[in-house]
Amino acid sequence: MSRYMTAEDLAIQAQARAFVDEELIPHEIEAEMNEGRLPEGVKTAQKARIKEMGLQAFNIEAELGGAGLTCFQQVLVSEQAGRATNALGWVFDAPAAWLPKVATEHQMKTWVLPAIRGERKECYAITEEFAGSDVDAIQATVTKDGDSYGLDGVKWHVTSFNHADHVFFQGKLKDGSHALLVSDLDNPGISVVRTPAYMHTYAAHHPIVAFDGVRVPKANLIGEEGDGMRFAYEWFRYERLMIAARCCGAARRLIDEASAFAQQRFASGKQLSEHQAISFMLADSVTELWAAQLMTYRLAQGIDDGMNVKTQHAQCSMAKLYASEMANRVADRAVQIFGGRGYMRENVAERFYRELRVDRIWEGTSEIQRIITADQLFKRGLSAILGEEQQ
Ligand SMILES: Cc1cc2nc3c(=O)[nH]c(=O)nc-3n(C[C@H](O)[C@H](O)[C@H](O)COP(=O)(O)OP(=O)(O)OC[C@H]3O[C@@H](n4cnc5c(N)ncnc54)[C@H](O)[C@@H]3O)c2cc1C
Repeated sequence: MSRYMTAEDLAIQAQARAFVDEELIPHEIEAEMNEGRLPEGVKTAQKARIKEMGLQAFNIEAELGGAGLTCFQQVLVSEQAGRATNALGWVFDAPAAWLPKVATEHQMKTWVLPAIRGERKECYAITEEFAGSDVDAIQATVTKDGDSYGLDGVKWHVTSFNHADHVFFQGKLKDGSHALLVSDLDNPGISVVRTPAYMHTYAAHHPIVAFDGVRVPKANLIGEEGDGMRFAYEWFRYERLMIAARCCGAARRLIDEASAFAQQRFASGKQLSEHQAISFMLADSVTELWAAQLMTYRLAQGIDDGMNVKTQHAQCSMAKLYASEMANRVADRAVQIFGGRGYMRENVAERFYRELRVDRIWEGTSEIQRIITADQLFKRGLSAILGEEQQ
């Protein structure tokens, strides 16, 4: 037990680490060579172990059937999940934690609780061809018609569409405000336009999906009309923090593996680790990982202590920005340290070098995180974004 981690925190971290070492990492190359997929039996066994460990829906409160972890403990689990390549860590179900706060009884019963139990799977359709960073530029429409709504538009990068059975669709109402609605994927009018290949090798695809005259009952509206953007911000804050955690885990794995290699491999008569050009790359990586981990841990503990939402917003952006850029630098150095081996798909550094790139893009690009941080700095001042005002 340390000043910053309780015995329970350490136990959860150790459990998640053992799971990733024993159940995920050994399957990475198989996944890489098989379009990201693992045999169904393997995934079923992984999911069963997650339930046994009490980590099913680790971000959801215990009364709803989740693991009831603190925000800090969620970060510890995500960090470990981030140590595995090929998104094998996505085997942990983490449905949107804000949904139970706004979902109706019908929505809880139909979508939210089954997703928490791991029986149903959701995907999110917000981004469009001409609207990514600027979410307000979406052209998809939500049209009220009596007791139902019509959903129309073409959505891009719909992650996990091929594993999901329902979708959260964001579109604009007549007055220009945003609405979020849920639809089952077998609803008529939803079709895949195409499934582009991406830089990583993941079993989850990100297709372009058309919604053409899709009809859903009024009961499928999440919250109120006009609430769409509020949910998006809540989701962004959470995901940005978890991306920071996963990036810390990825950097840790890369440093572990690259430093082990540097101590085994000889070049020009000595161990690679004795060449300062190599050891300095590792020293910089460790230093930057430590900084990112401190930011991420401190932020999560601050959220557990009731940090105000605006400070959370700025700090989630800063943590995501720093940790994702850090992990990309570490992956680049790790490829260099492994030399030719670092360019082989069977090498962890090659895979992370490709996979981590998206962490600088999704859930708000690095530029957007800087815009948010600068905006908060000028509007609220340095003490506020550093969280000093509420001490
Ligand atoms: C693998 C993957 C999975 C995804 N999954 C989903 C999903 O499940 N659901 C979903 O809805 N979306 C998803 N996305 C979309 C993702 O959130 C967007 O790609 C991201 O927000 C960036 O939007 P964009 O791609 O349209 O880029 P753009 O917004 O067009 O940006 C292009 C470039 O311009 C910069 N830029 C934009 N605006 C500004 C500005 N104001 N100032 C300075 N620079 C700016 C950006 O930083 C970027 O460098 C996914 C994307 C990827 C790659």
